[in-house]
Amino acid sequence: MRLERRRFVQLLGAAALAGAQPGPRYALVIKNGEVFDPSRGFRAKADVAVTAGRIAAIEPEIPAEQALETIEAKGLYVAPGLVDLHTHCYHSATGLSVEADPIAARSGVTTWADAGSFAHDQVAGFRRFIVEPAQARIFGYVYLYPSSRNPDIDPIDYARRQMRATGQAVLHNRDILLGVKVQIGSNMNGRYSYDLLKVARELCDEYKVPLMTHISFAPPETEQVMELMRPGDIVTHCYNGHTLSITDPNGKLKPGVAEARARGVIFDVGHGLGSFNFAAARRALDAGFPPDTISTDLYNLNVNGPVYDMPTTMSKFLYLGMSFEEVLRRSTWIPARVINRLEGMGTLAPGAPADIALLELEEGEFRLVDSQRNAVTARQRIVSRVTIVRGRRLRAT
Ligand SMILES: [Zn+2]
Repeated sequence: MRLERRRFVQLLGAAALAGAQPGPRYALVIKNGEVFDPSRGFRAKADVAVTAGRIAAIEPEIPAEQALETIEAKGLYVAPGLVDLHTHCYHSATGLSVEADPIAARSGVTTWADAGSFAHDQVAGFRRFIVEPAQARIFGYVYLYPSSRNPDIDPIDYARRQMRATGQAVLHNRDILLGVKVQIGSNMNGRYSYDLLKVARELCDEYKVPLMTHISFAPPETEQVMELMRPGDIVTHCYNGHTLSITDPNGKLKPGVAEARARGVIFDVGHGLGSFNFAAARRALDAGFPPDTISTDLYNLNVNGPVYDMPTTMSKFLYLGMSFEEVLRRSTWIPARVINRLEGMGTLAPGAPADIALLELEEGEFRLVDSQRNAVTARQRIVSRVTIVRGRRLRAT
């Protein structure tokens, strides 16, 4: 690939010197696929050309001779690279995380957001050893409550002492950090949960950064959490099926939930080992409450099931009756807007970064399993065939 690049640059130079000499204009052309870009409502059979890591052209026919490399995409959708807003790819002491690139290569996920696997004192390691070496694009939410805490210090007092360093870490690393993550639920930070959320609220107000909140088991109650969420904040595990959930057992949205969405709070799937339930998702969809963003909450306890990857998680929403376009929009354009760090991310518009997923919509009978091991049989499944990041094809190694 490196040799090819050098040759391409030489060719470009030679062509410039010789005027309009014929020769490859593009580094890569994806031929004969169906381009599907929900950000622009664009869907058509077309060829896609890539040069210098960006989308150079989308035209009905781009001759293969105009490219140094071609990829045949007949029968495939050519979609913006998938954007997974909730993953765990920082390797902390918990040992839970997964490595992004090998999974990106097989799953079409070109952009990853780590949802709080690291605290402010680990940001340098996140940048140096996770973000920089990766081919996939990686961002992160910093966790407010480091695990290396002194057991003699009151947890809320301890979290308060971390506010300044946490807020400044986000501000000083805005190219890779998106906000602050907290875990709220009686099973996660226990009786300190609600007070921890208040500390996080104060911190995010002071530093004007988004807050991503994990929800699982009450207390606190859903309404108490919702009223502390501001526009641009994210509620993850929105279809968890537990007691700190967005619907009641009768299928009604709990107080504060619709109001939170109306003022711009983002509701994220964050499937995970324990946080996606088919019945809970069905109740919310029936109540007119689709997710804003579809994400995996991928880590090594669920990567071999029931989550597997982003296409499998997306397939669960096809099963629940959402259209392919709506599923794709919530897995590309909307999470890219939440991240909001790179113009054109989540689209295939000419000039946008060449982050591309070649997806296939398979027909058949597929077993899909939620976090409580409820299994369903789906008639369609999304599978990724090729992942391209910054114009380069990722290969599973
Ligand atoms: Zn998570």
